[in-house]
Amino acid sequence: MSGSLGVVSLQKANMSVRVRFAPSPTGPLHIGGVRTALYNFLFAKKNQGDFVLRIEDTDQKRFVEGAESYIYDALAWMGLSPTEGPLQGGAYGPYKQSERKRLYISHIKKLVAEGRVYMAFDTNEELAELRKEVEAKGEVFIYNWKNRLGLKNSLSLTADEVEHLLGNNTPHVYRFMAHAEGETTALLCEDQVRGKIHIDKSLLDDKVLVKQDGMPTYHLANVIDDHLMNISHVIRGEEWLPSLALHQLIYDAFGWKAPIFAHVPLILKTTGKGKLSKRDGEAFGFPVFPLTWDEKTIGFKESGYLPEALVNYLALLGWNDGGEKEFFSLNELIDAFSLTGITKSGGRFDPERCTWFNQQYMAQLPAATIVAHLKNELLARDINADNQKLSAIVQLIHPRLVLLTDLWKEASLFFERPQTFEENAVNKHWKEETPKLMLRLAELLKLSSFDTAEAIATEVKGWAANNEIRMGALMAPLRLALVGEMKGPDVFAICHVIGAAACVARINLAVTEISV
Ligand code: GLU
Repeated sequence: MSGSLGVVSLQKANMSVRVRFAPSPTGPLHIGGVRTALYNFLFAKKNQGDFVLRIEDTDQKRFVEGAESYIYDALAWMGLSPTEGPLQGGAYGPYKQSERKRLYISHIKKLVAEGRVYMAFDTNEELAELRKEVEAKGEVFIYNWKNRLGLKNSLSLTADEVEHLLGNNTPHVYRFMAHAEGETTALLCEDQVRGKIHIDKSLLDDKVLVKQDGMPTYHLANVIDDHLMNISHVIRGEEWLPSLALHQLIYDAFGWKAPIFAHVPLILKTTGKGKLSKRDGEAFGFPVFPLTWDEKTIGFKESGYLPEALVNYLALLGWNDGGEKEFFSLNELIDAFSLTGITKSGGRFDPERCTWFNQQYMAQLPAATIVAHLKNELLARDINADNQKLSAIVQLIHPRLVLLTDLWKEASLFFERPQTFEENAVNKHWKEETPKLMLRLAELLKLSSFDTAEAIATEVKGWAANNEIRMGALMAPLRLALVGEMKGPDVFAICHVIGAAACVARINLAVTEISV
């Protein structure tokens, strides 16, 4: 298989693995990007290699305040720490493209001297006009070998004309000559996921490598940096597959060996059609970003997902180890990961399955960890509780937790009396005789042993039997009085944890507040 070839040649050459994650800080990092970072991280760790973080911030127009620190925070939360990057430093820095401008300019000069890159002075208006004319004929406008000599560039103009334009500071870009007349048109590219890809070079356009503002485009900066940073494998999103041929040609033009490429399939919408977008999350109310970005963009973290569950779920959305295994710790993923396991087709994002993974991870968390989280919740609310009480509560609610945000929802009933009583439950369970029964029960509870939940249960059941009271007439109203709705763990366990005094107080308040 083509995937294993990369690994074999790597071992032969005894080349060390260096991969990079290269996000552009143009907004919050989407989980598609997080998954790309994860695959890079796993591949680096698996091969005792380096995981480089490079910030691709050459596009000043698309710069978004806060997006860079979001990338750092998101990777840290996911546990995907880079070995080199803007924060870590390293031998191949700087790791932000905006700080590497002089490198791009010095390199492009070589390609200009060799005639592979030329200056183009066409204005946007001129190109738009031409495009319109060509499209009117039902054709597509491509700036390339067929028409470049008829356009306004350093190949079609005389040296004097070019000199004159430059002397007048005429805005210009640098274009890459993708194909020249008479050259062979066949180009073979290789991708670890897709295999061999045959390209017809004559169909490519002469892409801009340096913009009018003197900044390199993504294509130039990306190739130069991957080369200078000694990147062995480029693992990136499938949206870059159409750029592979151009990148291959730029490597060839420089006389550099291209890295091994692996293009990861897209994360698809829940329906399976199209790429998962920010709007899907907003429309259906599930997170698609690791951390909260603004009030409309709530993160997995803030929604109560555990990073290890998200890592596990994302890893399987475009990769598998060929077996049936579903649960992988980060270390197990590192052991199992290979580029050959990356699937060709996109993974459908299924929020329910993601949540199910989280539930399984919540269930595996040690009780002490949940206690620690609960302590934080209490601290934020200025509530004191001893460890024994907290452990008892966690034992009761742990099986009920799906998300970390369920913790307070499930635990609050042990600390706060109900503020409201659910109407349907009241209508159904709070009968005319209920207040009297509840007050009698409160009297019993005052005198009962509260040593264990079982002791309370035995006492209440015995008392009910002796007084010919149906347990059914007691249990639902008692739960309503203590919790306010028909939810929560075993009602006697609740009594035991909150204690006799709180039970009695809640019953009395329910009797006064519930009117039927
Ligand atoms: N800056 C590009 C992005 O944000 C990087 C693509 C690549 O990895 O080559 O998608």
